[in-house]
Amino acid sequence: MKYFITTYGCQMNVHESEKIAGMLVDIGYSSASSYEDADIIVFNTCCIRDTAEKRAFGNIGALKSLKRTHPDKIIVVVGCMTQQKGGAEALAAKFPFVDIILGTNSLDRLPILVQEKRIRKTVISVASDPTVDLSLELPIYRTSGTNAWINIMYGCNNYCTYCIVPYVRGRERSRAIGDVIADVKQVLSEGYKEITLLGQNVDSYGSDLQDGTNFALLLKEISAIPGKFRLRFMTSHPKDFDREVIDVIASSNNICHNIHLPIQSGSNEILRRMNRKYTVEQYLSIVDYIKEKMPDVGITSDIMVGFPGETEEDFLETCDLVRKVRFSNAFTFIYSPRKGTPAASMEQIPSDVKKSRITRLVKLQNDITKELSDEYLGNTYEILVEDVNPKYPGTVCGRTDSGRLVTIKGEPSLIGSFLDVKITKSRSASLFGEILSKGE
Ligand code: SF4
Repeated sequence: MKYFITTYGCQMNVHESEKIAGMLVDIGYSSASSYEDADIIVFNTCCIRDTAEKRAFGNIGALKSLKRTHPDKIIVVVGCMTQQKGGAEALAAKFPFVDIILGTNSLDRLPILVQEKRIRKTVISVASDPTVDLSLELPIYRTSGTNAWINIMYGCNNYCTYCIVPYVRGRERSRAIGDVIADVKQVLSEGYKEITLLGQNVDSYGSDLQDGTNFALLLKEISAIPGKFRLRFMTSHPKDFDREVIDVIASSNNICHNIHLPIQSGSNEILRRMNRKYTVEQYLSIVDYIKEKMPDVGITSDIMVGFPGETEEDFLETCDLVRKVRFSNAFTFIYSPRKGTPAASMEQIPSDVKKSRITRLVKLQNDITKELSDEYLGNTYEILVEDVNPKYPGTVCGRTDSGRLVTIKGEPSLIGSFLDVKITKSRSASLFGEILSKGE
């Protein structure tokens, strides 16, 4: 018996799919290579962006005829689309051939429902309280190669006016520091060379525990665990990313100098309307401190254009900020209204204006990324080989400490190795190099 999972959205969802796979492996399923090959098909959805939601709708709808010809296949929809108010019922009405709809907080029921095969009629299991963490102790079938994802917290308290996350994932709940550290030791003993700590706002880790635990302490304790490994984390919030955390990263030898710090807009007025709770000046002062402590850092960001009320002047301020910070890369996107959020009822700006702004922003960021890539030429960096690069046969690829992807000639047997690599060519965000020596 086989399963096939399609995942939409962020790394949190990718890791949640590893938990879904873990539960299915536990009850005897193995991974399939296609919908046709699978006995159970799972869609792990995301409602944070319009594009992810539309893709999920399209892909689920496309299975109607497969389900008609293969009625024994079990189709499951999980993830935050189901957790929105009325979301599960709407999905059931639109796709009556779906067998099981689970909320983010009732994932643990999947094996029982699958084994009972309570199909033919859609089973909906969405608990109304999103703070119930039933997925905490689920088995995990890790699929991410050299990197192990570890959740350190769930939910978000910030209520940015464009974001649906606090409504579908609930308020922040941090895991106990001892549990996180036990998970880290476990994955290191299994041979993982890189760990990425996950949370919607990792910098406020521990604030709900009220025992003095904070993110800096967590980083320090994990960093002190013996062995050769890399530590990354995502996502940070500029209002909580403090100097204590930066000092810990700068003084450790295994926390990567690669900081993802979403700015969203370079206009104070737009940041205020987004309820981001920091100003451009505060953001720039954090960036200055990061660069002072870690001159080799790679800073990446999320930048949105077309938020309601964004004027040309606001947009130009965003471009100014991009020029000042010089992000090594940025996830740039057009604002799309999310039903149930305050920004959805603000006055929207025309789509042709949004499209023109994103085109200009992408060009600006690409030019900066290329200029920064050229600075790597001729220098030597340690990379952790993560995978083959399917675009270039006979090559493998891995990232520098600063998060840059480097492709080198080599065999898949190098995956999981640390290599010293000299950069010989740069192409936009991509770097190419040659192996100088092999580490651990
Ligand atoms: S910090 Fe803001 S954007 Fe990030 S998950 Fe929380 S509400 Fe959403």
